Amino acid sequence: MAERILVVEDEEKIARFLELELKYEGYEVEKAADGRRGLELIEAGEYDLVLLDILLPGLNGLEVLRRLRKLTDTPVIMLTAKDAVMDKVTGLDMGADDYITKPFAIEELLARIRLCLRKQESKGADVARKEGKDLSCGALTLNADRHEVLYDDTEVSLTSREFSLLQTLLENKNIVLGRDTLLEKVWGFDYMGETNVVDVYIRYLRAKIDDRFDVKLIKTIRGVGYVIRDEV
Ligand code: CA
Repeated sequence: MAERILVVEDEEKIARFLELELKYEGYEVEKAADGRRGLELIEAGEYDLVLLDILLPGLNGLEVLRRLRKLTDTPVIMLTAKDAVMDKVTGLDMGADDYITKPFAIEELLARIRLCLRKQESKGADVARKEGKDLSCGALTLNADRHEVLYDDTEVSLTSREFSLLQTLLENKNIVLGRDTLLEKVWGFDYMGETNVVDVYIRYLRAKIDDRFDVKLIKTIRGVGYVIRDEV
């Protein structure tokens, strides 16, 4: 699928030129002629990269960048004026990935775009690998591949049901799960036994983790269910 690039640039000639060149390279392109519109599009859509001019009417590029970073880690390349050293420094501090000074050669910009997209891709791959490896909460880690649970470096031996319950809690760390949800995820839809089986197994887990290591990772949310959370 074509990567999507948002061009936030008020100078129509430059915006149009970028659109044509980027489309020619096989990217999908959308344009915004001011900062506010750019931010709206970022909030509404998914982009693989943003080209962001600094001098924009209304909301300037740095302000767009600041707000954008609260929403997403989409790579941003700033388009800066020749002598605006401060803008470059501030922009990079604020989380821009790169900048290019106007006027620029399109080949250079294309090279930087490719580099940014590649970096982002490998970042995504790292996260995915990590997610496949360990789940953790505080000093507790669970490795599903090895079917192993450690607290610090001490092995915690769990039955397969306890393991599966802990895994479900960790996969939803900081999210409160109701008894019904846990029952469905760990015991399956067609479980016909008592719903208090969840409470029983939570007690088993607490005995093997919270009590043993003197922490309170597994929390009861009265009237709702359970959540695993770093101790605060
Ligand atoms: Ca401008």
